[in-house]
Amino acid sequence: MLQQLSRAARIILVGAPGAGKGTQTERLIRRFPQLSSISSGDLLRSNVRSRTPLGIQAEAKMKTGALLPDTMMVRLIINELNLRGWLVPDTIMPYTVNFTAPGAESLLESVDDVFIPSPFRTSKYNYSESPSASFILDGFPRTAAQAKQIDEIVPINLVVNIKTPTDVILDRICNRWVHEPSGRVYNTTFNAPRVAGIDDITGEPLVQRADDSPEVWTARLKKFEETSAPLLEHYDKKSVLWTVNGNSSDEISPRLFDEFARRFAH
Ligand code: AMP
Repeated sequence: MLQQLSRAARIILVGAPGAGKGTQTERLIRRFPQLSSISSGDLLRSNVRSRTPLGIQAEAKMKTGALLPDTMMVRLIINELNLRGWLVPDTIMPYTVNFTAPGAESLLESVDDVFIPSPFRTSKYNYSESPSASFILDGFPRTAAQAKQIDEIVPINLVVNIKTPTDVILDRICNRWVHEPSGRVYNTTFNAPRVAGIDDITGEPLVQRADDSPEVWTARLKKFEETSAPLLEHYDKKSVLWTVNGNSSDEISPRLFDEFARRFAH
């Protein structure tokens, strides 16, 4: 079932690695086609490939896995929203709701042309409230500083905190087997290969990734808790934080769809 949005959704999914953020993003986009995903990692990789000045600067840091400077990341996201026509600098606003001369409304070709002046008067940008200017940010913001900066320009209006118990995530990861040449992933509890330890398609052996060990994942999950806490706190203060609990993606999706539709599709 496809659902239309009635207002712009600007959302972020926060969830531990292994909690199924990617799955929920894909499902949301399939059900609400006006949503699109903007991934900071993908944008960076595309800048690196095209050898832009930003890409050249970013490349070395990305190789080490270190985070890039907050202002650089905010600039990257603003630039992307700008390219998509969802965010325009204040000075070159051709059609705005409070800038339109009497009778000039007919110049607007679609609702996409209506830009709502930002309530933050310090902002130099205006963002679109059209449902087609809806997005899920993936990988951004990663820090409270990034969240604060982007909120002053284009406020995020829903942050979904996906909570899956740690032991459930660990259990899922430790049951994961991969066919390395193809990247096919199996799980012995819910997506088992036909023959244990053997790839369905090629008949070749499956392996467990060295970094899929409980020790590595416990450390990774702890790190996630530490870094996400200030972000969640920021959005809780803004009253846009919504938490969903569930042990699997299939348990979480219907709850997420209902809440999302309640907020953006009525
Ligand atoms: P990802 O594909 O999201 O894992 O991002 C790949 C790399 O890009 C990360 O390891 C960081 O070096 C950089 N990166 C992506 N998003 C951000 C962000 N929001 N803040 C800082 N660095 C980022």
